Amino acid sequence: MSDETKGGISLGGLFKGKRALVTGIANDRSIAWAIAQALHAEGAALAFTYPGAAMGERVLPLVRTLAPAAVLDMDVSSDEAIDGAMAELKEVWPTFDVLVHSIGFAPRGALAGRFTDVTTREAWRITLDVSAYSLIALTRAAKPFMPRGGSVVTLSYYGAEKVVRNYNVMGVAKAALESSMRYLAEDLGQDGIRVNAISAGPVKTLAAAGIKGMRAMLDENADKTPLRRNIDQDDVARACLYLCSDLARSVTGEVLHVDCGQSILGVVSMA
Ligand code: NAD
Repeated sequence: MSDETKGGISLGGLFKGKRALVTGIANDRSIAWAIAQALHAEGAALAFTYPGAAMGERVLPLVRTLAPAAVLDMDVSSDEAIDGAMAELKEVWPTFDVLVHSIGFAPRGALAGRFTDVTTREAWRITLDVSAYSLIALTRAAKPFMPRGGSVVTLSYYGAEKVVRNYNVMGVAKAALESSMRYLAEDLGQDGIRVNAISAGPVKTLAAAGIKGMRAMLDENADKTPLRRNIDQDDVARACLYLCSDLARSVTGEVLHVDCGQSILGVVSMA
């Protein structure tokens, strides 16, 4: 990506006076970190979550640089952890406007090898629970904070729509995530809450590192997408600003592909 198109944009304080709860920051390569920086640059007040003390130690020094209102320990596989974190948040924020759900996890063994062999009942349960059900749980928890409406954005991937080798049960979870997003959008539209997904192209992050063949896919993709490059985290952040803002006030239940056009391709190469 050229220097002119990479990096910050300024929309003149699009999120001034708004509050955003951002989940899913593991390090400075996380998609959620790019989203947090973009929201911060546009004037949003931020709160963050992380799952467990070990992750907290890594995440706290990073997120503190954005002067958060709260940084909450919240493992989304536990209802108690979700309830506890939201109760803590209520002490500092009576309401918020934006929820960014940027969470995915599958046991490593499930992300390599033959789908039939590696997709155990336990791998399915964990992956679907953490990566898909958590959107429903977090949106339900966010609803009382959004009495005047709000916006929820989740992160998906093309493996929800088509088979991507080695993505395996995570593809099944992303399909459930996208479907859940649509049901949430229908249900919460009457409350003025919009729910959308960004289907991001592959990016080198901690979560992506767990998928066998990721590096080769990135190399291959680089000159095969319609835009002849891969996306970066900042591309996703820009789309997220759109979906979370009034610019997308009539957009809900949508999967927005931020993938340099990759998902429109059929046969990639005839030459
Ligand atoms: P990442 O590893 O930086 O983020 C994944 C996050 O999920 C981490 O912050 C981790 O702490 C969190 N998480 C995992 N289990 C959790 C749990 N039980 N409770 C709470 N949080 C938990 O990687 P990323 O690529 O930024 O991933 C963010 C989202 O983007 C994921 O949903 C991922 O599937 C999606 N996505 C990634 C890519 C890619 O190529 N990197 C492409 C499309 C979609």
